[in-house]
Amino acid sequence: MARLQRVRDRFFAITKRGLSLSSAYRCLKHPDEQAKVKRYGKDYKGGTHVRGTGYDVRIGWGWERQLLIKIAMEEGFLGFGYADSFLHLDDDAKRNDKMTSWTY
Ligand SMILES: [Zn+2]
Repeated sequence: MARLQRVRDRFFAITKRGLSLSSAYRCLKHPDEQAKVKRYGKDYKGGTHVRGTGYDVRIGWGWERQLLIKIAMEEGFLGFGYADSFLHLDDDAKRNDKMTSWTY
């Protein structure tokens, strides 16, 4: 969470715009997580949102997204999920310091 706040502060310092989240911590009962339980099976224990290390930041495409990505990489985020209306960021320990990315 402190890492995310550093990203938000740095982004605001440049753009004078705040960043809002469309998702952060989710328990396994959350509909998005239950959909994954259906997809991956009953042994699925949840991903970064369930572990409290994943955040979905509302942002469109363009220079502000690129700025957000740059700052997030500099601050040590490792997981980058690209959706049209948000960017997923996580610093999950299970990534073993390796960056990764995907689309939705
Ligand atoms: Zn996410």
